[in-house]
Amino acid sequence: AKKAGRNTLRFFDPKMQEAFNIRATLEIELRRALESKQFQLYYQVQVDQLARPFGAEVLIRWIHPERGMISPLDFIPLAEETGLILPIGEWVLDTACAQLEVWQKEKSTKNLTLSVNVSAKQFSQADFVRQVQAKLSRYNVKPQHLKLELTESILLEHVDNIVISMVALESIGVQFSLDDFGTGYSSLQYLKMLPLNQLKIDQSFVRDIVEDSNDRSIVGTIIAMAKNLGFEVIAEGVETEAQKELLLSKGCQHFQGYLFGKPMPIEQFGSLLKLK
Ligand code: C2E
Ligand code: CA
Ligand code: CA
Ligand code: CA
Repeated sequence: AKKAGRNTLRFFDPKMQEAFNIRATLEIELRRALESKQFQLYYQVQVDQLARPFGAEVLIRWIHPERGMISPLDFIPLAEETGLILPIGEWVLDTACAQLEVWQKEKSTKNLTLSVNVSAKQFSQADFVRQVQAKLSRYNVKPQHLKLELTESILLEHVDNIVISMVALESIGVQFSLDDFGTGYSSLQYLKMLPLNQLKIDQSFVRDIVEDSNDRSIVGTIIAMAKNLGFEVIAEGVETEAQKELLLSKGCQHFQGYLFGKPMPIEQFGSLLKLK
């Protein structure tokens, strides 16, 4: 190896070797995580203009036996690359539908909705529509209670197939939200094509909305446009009363963020609902 040129030697960079090892270990552990039930869903409340809860977004957590809680930001990308997102995503959908079944049976929770993040890989699977239908009927879930969150990156490939799947699910009543709106390759063209119910204003616009008049204008424009197109708007990452008031004054009527509740395990979420 020593005789090879400089470029070849780079392959033996110990730092790169280490990064590779960490990744390989993570991948092996991720494969085991599902069968050893190391994933958990956290629920983050979503509220209306009067701060009444109407649903939640489910956010996955990996509770690693040695390393503790691992953020989805640290394993979802790997799960997507390796295809593990398919069984993981199916587990998320299954768990969310099982929870909706429980809620539907109680008078005080029967109208709550759950928003589930779906990655592009999942969505472009040929049998995704059937998978969703199977979960809904397995748990007797009203399709209107399930909201699938997509990001714009999903649209980079296979737009036609994705639109066909969305239309099929929409026709049975499943809801759709466009997540992180405004951060991606936003083409307004997509807004016309897709059967969306909700636009989710990305938290990067909400963060500085009180101080930054540009962000304020962008958010105002998004809200006005969404309303004209007939979409519901939800703002995420709302942390302060001042942010909420500003959003409210711009016409936003749905909110999610630490101000109303952090993502939490289901038991805690149940207590939060009782308090409100
Ligand atoms: P996302 O879908 O944009 O989720 C919103 C993120 O913002 C969550 O991070 C949430 O905990 C955080 N957040 C909520 N309220 C606030 C707030 O007031 N302030 C701040 N600073 N942050 C807030 P989390 O749970 O770490 O999830 C990160 C990302 O991982 C998600 O971003 C989503 O893209 C992905 N993800 C999470 N669960 C799933 C899943 O089940 N499937 C897939 N495919 N992706 C998931
Ligand atoms: Ca989301
Ligand atoms: Ca988001
Ligand atoms: Ca995001």
